[in-house]
Amino acid sequence: MATEYLTVKEALTAVLHSVSPLPAETVGLTEALGRILAEPVIARDSLPPFANSAMDGYAVRADDVTQASQSLAVSLQVVGEVAAGTVSDIILTPGTAVRIMTGAPVPAGADAIVPVEQTNEQYRAAERPLPEQILIYGSVEPGAYVRHIGEDIQAGQAVLPAGHQLRPQEIGVLASLGVAQVPVVKRPRVGVLSTGDELIPVEAPLTPGKIRNSNSYTQLAQIQALGANPVPLGVARDTVADVRDRLQAALDAHVDLIISSAGVSVGAYDVVRSVLEEGGNIGFWKVRMRPGKPLAHGTYQGVVYLGLPGNPVSAMVSFERFARPAILKMAGHTHLERPQVTAVLQDEIYSDGRESYVRAVVERNSSGDYIATTTGSQGSHIMTSLVKANALLIVPEGVKYAPSGTQLAAMMIDWPASVF
Ligand code: AMP
Ligand code: MG
Repeated sequence: MATEYLTVKEALTAVLHSVSPLPAETVGLTEALGRILAEPVIARDSLPPFANSAMDGYAVRADDVTQASQSLAVSLQVVGEVAAGTVSDIILTPGTAVRIMTGAPVPAGADAIVPVEQTNEQYRAAERPLPEQILIYGSVEPGAYVRHIGEDIQAGQAVLPAGHQLRPQEIGVLASLGVAQVPVVKRPRVGVLSTGDELIPVEAPLTPGKIRNSNSYTQLAQIQALGANPVPLGVARDTVADVRDRLQAALDAHVDLIISSAGVSVGAYDVVRSVLEEGGNIGFWKVRMRPGKPLAHGTYQGVVYLGLPGNPVSAMVSFERFARPAILKMAGHTHLERPQVTAVLQDEIYSDGRESYVRAVVERNSSGDYIATTTGSQGSHIMTSLVKANALLIVPEGVKYAPSGTQLAAMMIDWPASVF
């Protein structure tokens, strides 16, 4: 298969085109935080479901107390009491009032609530015996302190659209509407494969020529951070048989997407490429991007496949650029991009004309503007420059030098409270 040269945009468009939102599943409300609604939620009830009091006080007819003031109290006959959770069958007639607690249904005939603070029963009304008369020291408008039926949500109304991510406040709305089981998009299961004879387990002591496998852990964490389900596929040795076995394990685990790192360029031991060429429908791309030029994309035995470069920084940046939006799309998200701000470069950047993703710290200066400083060596093996970074500055294609003062788009890989 021929290697193609693509812009970042072309590659991203093709990757996103190859994946679709997964089907729905139903989860309990306590499991729904962060999930994406698979269907719109239609209110089966109104909220509030009945007119109720916003205050502890007295339910009255506003007409009865229009003359009431501090100096001229109006006396009403107290004909009953209604607490939250109960219903009163009293119908208010002129000159009467019902003692009412917050959240209790407003009795028929009443059209306003006088807060207890505007009566002669100043505090702890609920603990006192019900008085026969109550003095009202202020007038109220009709509707005062009444929470009306359907004021928040009307029965039959579309409350939340499909694709909406559930935060605590949405969970609360669903609970209020009696939605105990929530239809959400399935979490993508993403297999993570590392390849290379040089890789040893994290627990192992270093031996000559070997390095610990870090990419698997970075990627498993990146997947986890998206709310998707990471499926570790281990490390494949640089043999066709081993790569094939690991990919078979991925298929057996019913993953929705396979991500691998390394072995996709043209080195003598890049056996991943051979296996994919025979068992898949994969394109090998050279993306005009820095870091992260080589990228394999397509399907292996019908499962979408993304082969990222091996260098840890290239792998992480390629994941950010291509895998992350793809996984978000599969998970039902509609916003697939990191937040971006425009930041003023404080140092300088040399590039080679490819679209570059430069590790940087974005912060605010004393006038509140975003400023960006690169985090040192941009070698694709320098992992600590990513540790220091909260952003990737995007140097557009064709630009080979960005002097201090250049305004650049900063893709915020982190949205730190210290900056925003
Ligand atoms: P390759 O694409 O196989 O030529 O690998 C490119 C570079 O990435 C080499 O220096 C590898 O040792 C390194 N590399 C590949 N896989 C991993 C991994 N899982 N963890 C850390 N480094 C890796
Ligand atoms: Mg290799």
